[in-house]
Amino acid sequence: MNEPRYGLIEAGGTKFVLGVADANGTILDRTRIPTLMPDETIGAMLEWFGARGAYSAIGLATFGPVELDPASPQWGHILTTAKPSWTGADLAGPLQRRFACPVIVDTDVNGAALAEATWGAGKGEQVVLYFTIGTGVGGGAVINGRTLRGKGHPEMGHFRLPRHPDDLNYAGKCPFHGDCVEGLTAGPAIFDRWGKTLSDLPADHPAHDIISWYIAQLVVSMQAIFEPGKLILGGGVMATPGLIDRVREKAVKLGGGYFRSDASAMISAPGLGDNAGLMGAFALAQSAAPE
Ligand code: ZN
Repeated sequence: MNEPRYGLIEAGGTKFVLGVADANGTILDRTRIPTLMPDETIGAMLEWFGARGAYSAIGLATFGPVELDPASPQWGHILTTAKPSWTGADLAGPLQRRFACPVIVDTDVNGAALAEATWGAGKGEQVVLYFTIGTGVGGGAVINGRTLRGKGHPEMGHFRLPRHPDDLNYAGKCPFHGDCVEGLTAGPAIFDRWGKTLSDLPADHPAHDIISWYIAQLVVSMQAIFEPGKLILGGGVMATPGLIDRVREKAVKLGGGYFRSDASAMISAPGLGDNAGLMGAFALAQSAAPE
């Protein structure tokens, strides 16, 4: 192999986006396949990459929870998930066996945080957090160029929040915790309460204040833990017109002027748009490459 080529995977709950990139991160080829049963989807993924040659490394940015401990026999497997047929599915092993190259696994949101920290809205910052608020809520973190991992990966979408005084009767949608961030602010939780998406509710509907207040509470909690240079908010719910500005305004008030960073400047929309997922996988793959 002359020039390094990288296999890129953004594995999501509804689709897998696959790509091949050169050493500069130029996407040479890409496709998307639906997330069906694990055998079907993993089989289609192996076939697509197999038809496109060999790879220096493969970056796998996946939905979670996923085992990231290389010493665990479950490394690269999906753990207990709300998508039961995928619990225990081995994503990384088949790639490693078929292509005999390093496979770098991380969460989709850690990958997106790394891509945004390297090339996007968080460029130049020491600490960058990335949240996606959509069908679910996920959070990733990059600290000094490395994604945050502990015993597992961060699960900031399941942070517990104080309850909004006008939203006390809703039990929450998370199957594990009820009213965690995901259980209160993800798309299904919004639909559960108000029968519409946030974008489809009129701008003066109280849902906008309630949801933005919860997200602002999350932001201020994250400031207290990380003091991030940038906290990036993406995902389908965040695409609601005006939502990010409501979050900014509330986060400034809730922070009480205490934190080093100004929340309104710290909160950012994704800089890489639709490419963040594949660029995240590229950033992971590249981390395995010899300089
Ligand atoms: Zn939860």
